[in-house]
Amino acid sequence: MKNNLTRLTDTVSAIKTTFLFRTRLLPTHVFILEIENGLVLFDTGSPGNGKMIVESLREAKFDPGSIRAICLSHWHRDHAGSLAEIIELIGPASKVEIFIGQADLTLLTAKRPRILRFHPFLNLPVWHRPGRLPSSSNGLFIPLDNAGYTKLDRKYGIKAIPTPGHTPGHTAYLHRETGSLFSGCALSLLEPHLVGIISIFHDRKEQIRSGKRLADMDFRYLFPVHMFLRSDEIPLKKRQPCTGKKGIITRLMGNHLFFRIS
Ligand SMILES: [Zn+2]
Ligand SMILES: [Zn+2]
Repeated sequence: MKNNLTRLTDTVSAIKTTFLFRTRLLPTHVFILEIENGLVLFDTGSPGNGKMIVESLREAKFDPGSIRAICLSHWHRDHAGSLAEIIELIGPASKVEIFIGQADLTLLTAKRPRILRFHPFLNLPVWHRPGRLPSSSNGLFIPLDNAGYTKLDRKYGIKAIPTPGHTPGHTAYLHRETGSLFSGCALSLLEPHLVGIISIFHDRKEQIRSGKRLADMDFRYLFPVHMFLRSDEIPLKKRQPCTGKKGIITRLMGNHLFFRIS
């Protein structure tokens, strides 16, 4: 089996998963963070990636049994889709704590398809259905309310940042010690040097507000789920605001740009 795991920093690795008809058309990543007493996963990829993720971890000498927590950015199936598979493969589910924004937990457990909007002007509706959930999943999830935020921070040193817009309960996660920002779909590397947002949303205005909030934060590393990856530090001084004319692709796709990395 081809190993899909890449080490990005001393503590963060990424596994490339398949999406869109099992191709790699839109690169989708699962991130692994090494903490003192185990691993934390950020998102889980589309359905059908669970076995590959667990095997990639083993091959890279990570113990999948040491996964302590899974932080979901949002309920969409390309992010929460392999959750059930991973939980089933790594054993007793009660050992893993699954964090997710409160509003998205409601959508995920409702198991009903929803309409997403694509493109700010065309506003095209897209049907989207959540992936399978782990059995007896009710007790496993920790919604990010006040108690959830405190638990995630105290136990794992991770700050949950509500970033609604792409979905109502979208959440980004900052690992405080390393300054690693796991931005989900709230901030993406649209080009290797260009940071903005993809125009799929529940609320476009909120999505831009949330993206701007993250773009202005003083993080060190940015790890978005889709598109490109970078492993170098991008502190505020390396970010140049995007002004002037937008390229044709950006305009056609309705992407919103925040900054360019110098
Ligand atoms: Zn999504
Ligand atoms: Zn996605």
